[in-house]
Order: sequence, then C-alpha cells, then structure tokens
Amino acid sequence: MERLQKVIAQSGITSRRKAENLISSGRVKVNGEVVTSQGIKVSSNDKVEVDGIQIDREISVYFLLYKPTGVITSVKDEKGRKVVTDYLPHVTERIYPVGRLDYDTSGALLLTNDGTLANLLMHPKFEIDKTYVAKIDGIPSQNQLNKLAKGIRLKDGMTAKADVEMLSKDKAKKRAIIQITIHEGRNRQVRRMFEALGFNVLKLKRERYGFLDLRGLASGDSRELKPHEVKTLY
Ligand code: URA
Repeated sequence: MERLQKVIAQSGITSRRKAENLISSGRVKVNGEVVTSQGIKVSSNDKVEVDGIQIDREISVYFLLYKPTGVITSVKDEKGRKVVTDYLPHVTERIYPVGRLDYDTSGALLLTNDGTLANLLMHPKFEIDKTYVAKIDGIPSQNQLNKLAKGIRLKDGMTAKADVEMLSKDKAKKRAIIQITIHEGRNRQVRRMFEALGFNVLKLKRERYGFLDLRGLASGDSRELKPHEVKTLY
C-alpha cells in the first residue's frame, strides 16, 4: 500500500506536492470515487484516475548506465540516432534519464520510471553531487582552478562552489586532466566553466552521480540499483 499522492507522483505526471493539490481540488478518483483527503493509501489493485484518465501503476525500477559517448540522453530521437534506452533493451518499464549528459559526454547516468525520485534529484535545492573528469586543452594555473572552485560567472549566473583537483598534466602536449565535483546541473555546465577560462574540454566523463560510481561497469553496461541504494537516494 502506498500513499495516493506518492502513487500519482510516481507516474511521472507531477511532483508529490502538486499531486496533493490535485487531490484536494477533487481531480483524483480512486475506484471511481472522488477522494479529497490526503492520507489515504492505495494498493496496486486500486484504479487511480486524474481528471478521468487512469494513471499507470508500473512498479518503480532504477538503473545506473555507463553512458558511452555518441549517444543522446533521451528515450527517442527523431533522426534515429542512438539513445540511452537502447542500452537497456531488456527493461519493459517506461524508464527515462534523470538529468542529462551531453552527446559527447560519457559516464554515470541514472534511469528510472519513478517520477517522485526524478523530481527530487533534479530539484535545485537537493541537487546531488556529480563528479566529472575532464581532459582539457591547456594547463590551468592554481589561480584558475581556484576560480572554478569558488564560482565563475557564466551567462546564466555565477556557478556554486565546486571541488576541483588537477589529477595530471602533460606539459609537452599542453593537456591536463581535472576532476571537478559540482552540486548543480546546468546545461553543459562543466564545458562552459572551462570555456569561461579559455579552455576546451576534449573529453568529459561523469565518474560519480552522488554515491553511485561506475565500478564494475564497462561503457554501455548498466545495472539495477539495490534497494538500499534507492533508499539512500531518497
Ligand atoms: N557538464 C557538461 O558540460 N556536460 C555534461 O554532459 C554534463 C555536465
């Protein structure tokens, strides 16, 4: 048995708070009866409708994918290019990616059909730590690394504090490998942070998404999260 607002939010149509509003405004029916109180619990056999449309009651599933480069973070592509769900053909539930990695970025990507968790993880207030390793075309000074760590001005505003560490540098080739952990999830954020300092990102990989890392996975592999991992994300 699960709380009605959670079941509605899990279907992906809205957040849990907005689901509560749907209930109190009389737009939700359980087994044909309008329900306006928040506390009620429903089982998987109960029919739940929002505005007369029955919502999907799939069980929630959670997968971690090691996204390869050259793949779109989407469930379908009009031009027929490879999308992340092509790597999980065995999953019959309607999963979708939580956040996105660029076409050319590889690494840890969570996919789920649990709208409540997806909304939570992407909410700016709870933005989860994401650790990237970037290969860049130059060697930043300590001063430049400090700027990345303290916050740097992008066209959509200052970035929040980040953890930044130079893992290696190749003076002959003028390349550096930088590890950066950010707590936000703006579009192309890591690439834009380096570009703001005049560096191009040649390679970008997300090593960790929160506490989830790529251990045991090769590029293109996925694994289902363990129940305790899902609990920790919540
Ligand atoms: N930052 C980027 O620039 N690209 C990604 O894919 C993720 C974070």
